[in-house]
Amino acid sequence: TRVLLTGGSGFIAAHTLDVLLKHGHSVVTTVRTQEKADKIKAAYPNYGKDKLDFAIVPDIAVPTAFDQAVVSDPPFEAVLHTASPFHFNVTDIQKDLLDPAVIGTTGILRSIKRSAPSVKRVVITSSFAAIIEPSKGFWPGHTYSEKDWNPMTKKDAEESPMAGYRASKTFAEKAAWEFVEKEEPNFSISTINPPMVYGPIIHNLESLENMNTSNQRILSAAQGKWKDEIPNTGVHFWVDVRDVAEAHVAAMEKPEAAGKRFFTVAGYFSNKEIAQIVKKHFPQYKDLPSDSTPGGDYPEGGKDAMYKFDNSRSREILGVKYRNFEDSVVDSIKSFQKVGL
Ligand code: NDP
Repeated sequence: TRVLLTGGSGFIAAHTLDVLLKHGHSVVTTVRTQEKADKIKAAYPNYGKDKLDFAIVPDIAVPTAFDQAVVSDPPFEAVLHTASPFHFNVTDIQKDLLDPAVIGTTGILRSIKRSAPSVKRVVITSSFAAIIEPSKGFWPGHTYSEKDWNPMTKKDAEESPMAGYRASKTFAEKAAWEFVEKEEPNFSISTINPPMVYGPIIHNLESLENMNTSNQRILSAAQGKWKDEIPNTGVHFWVDVRDVAEAHVAAMEKPEAAGKRFFTVAGYFSNKEIAQIVKKHFPQYKDLPSDSTPGGDYPEGGKDAMYKFDNSRSREILGVKYRNFEDSVVDSIKSFQKVGL
């Protein structure tokens, strides 16, 4: 299949690109600069232009950003839209988070409808952020699934960068489903909704300081930043990046994935467990937290006192077999070691 993948320089997209190429697809990926394209190209020396090519899209918040990128020869049959800001380093929530997420999503759908009629499936990277009901806390007795929607409003989005990020994912996914309903394009969409994504980095990283947001906490644990206190875990759900990548490609390949959201969650974790795994496998690092270091644990009552999850749709339709947490953390750190940890 001829595929357009957006945001190829990202943590999840790099793995998605890898799976696409291994499955024999022909991929054009968008990146912001030629330099980023060159780095990805260098990682795949045996793939010619017919298998791996690039389009430069500097800013997805521009409504016409994808007008040219969606046009290709041979024409695209599928689009995987992963690009969206995931960081909390923002000054203007509207401009830095909401616009690139929402305009990026509606913009690419509009460009596809107008200029790429051969596209049959669009897979969009949404998030558990678009599922969770933040005000419910640990919500004992509730089982999160694809049926749930984050009820945040525009006003809630302004509360903090974290709220802004969650809102950006919620509003972008909503806008995508609304687009399909109103515009009745030639293509169907699927969304992948992962919680915290961990696992090895294979994208180009200049330095550890540029670590992608979700992996920052594993890095912090190994760097001795949790010595005196382990931070709150926040959301206790996680998934491995390799499984998220497989899910994206399966959602593109499988006709029965059309029109569905997929809550791709592997299970529970806590920051305390991250700390324990780091200590067990990498005792050489300094200032690691000990078993008595406070913080980062499950709430009182443990997992029984928390929300549950249903990942059956992703297992049954996409065939995802979820990796375990310990391997994911160990593989993450091994990959950070290559960048200087
Ligand atoms: P990364 O930060 O590694 O990837 C984000 C990608 O989006 C990068 O390629 C980035 O390009 C691109 N991007 C961001 N803003 C713009 C913009 N304005 N114009 C053009 N490109 C832009 O993070 P992840 O790989 O983790 O995130 C990928 C997707 O997965 C996002 O949609 C995110 O919301 C979603 N997600 C991630 C989770 C996680 O835990 N990691 C959990 C749930 C969902 P550049 O690097 O050049 O800035």
